[in-house]
Amino acid sequence: MADINTFIIEHEILVRLSFFFGIFILMAIWEMLAPRRKLIIPKLMRWSNNLALVFLNSLILRVLFPAAAVGMAVFTKEEGWGLYNYYDISYVVMVISSVVILDAMIYLQHVMVHAVPVLWRLHRVHHADPDFDVTTGARFHPLEIILSMLIKFSVIAVLGPPVIAVIIFEILLNATAMFNHSNIRLNTTVDKLLRLIIVTPDMHRVHHSVEVDETNSNFGFNLPWWDWLFGTYKAQPKAGHENMLIGIKDYNQIRQVTWLSGILTLPFIGKVSDYVINRRYDNK
Ligand SMILES: [Zn+2]
Ligand SMILES: [Zn+2]
Repeated sequence: MADINTFIIEHEILVRLSFFFGIFILMAIWEMLAPRRKLIIPKLMRWSNNLALVFLNSLILRVLFPAAAVGMAVFTKEEGWGLYNYYDISYVVMVISSVVILDAMIYLQHVMVHAVPVLWRLHRVHHADPDFDVTTGARFHPLEIILSMLIKFSVIAVLGPPVIAVIIFEILLNATAMFNHSNIRLNTTVDKLLRLIIVTPDMHRVHHSVEVDETNSNFGFNLPWWDWLFGTYKAQPKAGHENMLIGIKDYNQIRQVTWLSGILTLPFIGKVSDYVINRRYDNK
């Protein structure tokens, strides 16, 4: 156990990249073999722009925070910061609870970027994608990526989680984001069972609906429990998965929502519209 821990910590970047590419390729093939919906925009155009954004984001993160969240966890440990450095808790409990707590924080952060108008401007980049597939999972504005990292740093500094827990969490978040954004068809029973422990593509697709009450549902990225607990769970979209519209109402100019230049300027254009806090009404 200790040997595996040391290996993972020493080869953290290699381990994370291998998981990223491995799961990306797996989901991309799965999407081709069993697609859930017909895509609207040609894949080559969307993928080249979405992946260019992912590449740009990794570059920015590498420059600003070369040691990333794992570096922060190491630093926190060295400084003796964080609650877990004050209590004598079993290592396994610390690792598991840290992953769960970090996931709960990501859920709360996601709710926050929907609720605060200026943060919604940034988060619009993720939602303006007119299609929903594996590349959507990593499509975030660089400023939102920086904000996420700073929030993660703060949580790590306060909690003081074991370094391995942060690595597991980063890999999990990355893997599940690609899984639950993928355009794959899952058997209804399998989907139902999986939803007990993980956010499935059908569950997260509801969150990418143009209908505001659906967009403001299913905020979870990893564990589905937070949406049930905090009352933001919606099982299915009203129009059904094949017919529902993906994206944001009135944001349908290809150049604006698909091209990298449009994506990067998206937070700075137009009004935030009538998208306001607490719009989870039912359109009955
Ligand atoms: Zn969202
Ligand atoms: Zn999403």
